[in-house]
Amino acid sequence: MAGEAQPDCLFCKIVAGEIPATVVRETQRTVAFRDINPQAPTHVLVIPKVHYPNAAALAAAEPEITAQLLIEAARVAEDEKIDGHGYRMIFNTGAGAGQTVFHAHLHVLGGVQLREGLV
Ligand code: IMP
Repeated sequence: MAGEAQPDCLFCKIVAGEIPATVVRETQRTVAFRDINPQAPTHVLVIPKVHYPNAAALAAAEPEITAQLLIEAARVAEDEKIDGHGYRMIFNTGAGAGQTVFHAHLHVLGGVQLREGLV
């Protein structure tokens, strides 16, 4: 069924508490936790608890949860006090864009001057 947990999905295992993570925020439908290999002083991943392989599939099936990811990302930025300077939100979508974990996730990056440009 759409959105169902996948047994071989790393982020489904984090949602289930089977793999530890440093959780910074949690709601009924989302979890935010620190990236294990941070690319900036603040690098948090905001994920839906339901499983969709990427942000596009999530948006098509669950637009309200997709919006919640953005709202939670903004709250993470406030909590981390990176909202004043500015921060970046990224959905890598597809292997060609660098996606390595195929459970939708929103990167929140900040706490440093991020370089200009998109690629
Ligand atoms: P992607 O490259 O956009 O798919 O991002 C996947 C992210 O997940 C990468 O930044 C990884 O460092 C991160 N990651 C992989 N395994 C874990 C984990 O167990 N805990 C937290 N972050 C992880």
